[in-house]
Amino acid sequence: MTENLNPFQIAQQQLDEAAALLALDPATHALLREPRRELHVTIPVRMDDGSVKVFKGFRVQYNDSRGPTKGGLRFHPSETIDTVRALAAWMTWKTAVVDIPLGGGKGGVICNPKEMSPGELERLSRGYIRAINKILGEETDVPAPDVYTTPQIMAWMMDEYSVIRGYNVPGMITGKPLELGGSQGRGDATARGGIFCVREAGKVLDIDLRGKTAAIQGYGNAGQFAHKLAVELLGMKVVAVSDSRGGIFNPDGLDFETTLQHKQDTGSVVGLAGTQPVSNEALLELDVTVLFPAALENQITAANAANIKAKVVAELANGPTTPEADHILHKNGVYVIPDFLCNAGGVTVSYFEQVQNAYDYYWPVELVHERLDHKMTAAFHAVHEMSQKKNVHNRLGAYLVAVSRVATAMKLRGWV
Ligand code: NAD
Repeated sequence: MTENLNPFQIAQQQLDEAAALLALDPATHALLREPRRELHVTIPVRMDDGSVKVFKGFRVQYNDSRGPTKGGLRFHPSETIDTVRALAAWMTWKTAVVDIPLGGGKGGVICNPKEMSPGELERLSRGYIRAINKILGEETDVPAPDVYTTPQIMAWMMDEYSVIRGYNVPGMITGKPLELGGSQGRGDATARGGIFCVREAGKVLDIDLRGKTAAIQGYGNAGQFAHKLAVELLGMKVVAVSDSRGGIFNPDGLDFETTLQHKQDTGSVVGLAGTQPVSNEALLELDVTVLFPAALENQITAANAANIKAKVVAELANGPTTPEADHILHKNGVYVIPDFLCNAGGVTVSYFEQVQNAYDYYWPVELVHERLDHKMTAAFHAVHEMSQKKNVHNRLGAYLVAVSRVATAMKLRGWV
């Protein structure tokens, strides 16, 4: 039988496993299996050649029992409603596992930003906000950046929303540039939160990470900062990195500044002097201490899970491992730091950004790092302890922590 790779069905399957262990009542389980609300829109955009192209967009508000929904916006040519639903579900578990007073949502537009001019991207960003503005707001649903969306895109969206409302509303979106109410420390927050988790995993597994090796799949926001911070904070040696065009390997370690410069100059990490090429598939199977999937979903599947040699898989990407692969990794003793824990640093600092916007007073970067560390470390140990206690893999442990928090909120509200 071929493995099911539909991300929303995978998210539901993961929830079902947790629901059974938690003995959730049928109504709670049924509510948590589906989004509370979703909006599908069409967005007409005037292109530079004068023609009008119609784009499809989505916004899914999965669950708001713990607070306003929160979640990124993805601009991607292969975006689907089921991907957005899955990401919105995972956001619900993510905000719960780090215990911030928010729910989960996600949005996306089917488009290829790499083939669009800045003017076309701006018109698409503003058009998307015009199409969904009625369900957005600081107290209802707050978007953020995700794959192929940037602080500049957040700035255009914040401006469009403020124009519609008639006053400045910085807190309606996070991941903004600093000059427009962004938070210090948001840029590297996802990777930094993941690195804090890896540091804690080193402690519980009794691995001294200094000088140990790492490989990173994906060299965007999450992957680049993971490279920088794995070296800077943990003293690790990053031996391989990749992007959508392929990967590079150097057993002596890749210098962060040189690799980043090459990526900025050429658009890819591929071809950096002094490195050997490595495919994205082969990178995942390298004999390293820590593997960081930091690209897209379904990278570690039943087909390759048995070949993973890393001791720790730190999932910066959302949904990189399938349920079948999870069981294989667990059986083989690979310690997985699951996505909605490992990459929760981004939403945590997004929440800090909302807090700063609300009282219009801004924190120094040291305070952001300290508070992020506190949240991530507490969440890591809550998940680790639950997994040990119930003798389950860490993803299921993380589900047990998060789902029970959301279920409690729904019960207290009297929904179920
Ligand atoms: P990004 O757009 O900055 O970078 C994505 C990177 O992945 C690019 O380098 C791209 O070349 C690479 N890539 C695309 N397809 C690939 C493939 N098939 N193989 C290898 N590399 C490939 O995106 P990002 O913000 O770094 O997000 C990456 C992952 O992290 C996503 O799963 C995203 O949902 C997750 N994430 C990001 C944040 C955040 O704050 N940026 C927060 C939580 C989770």
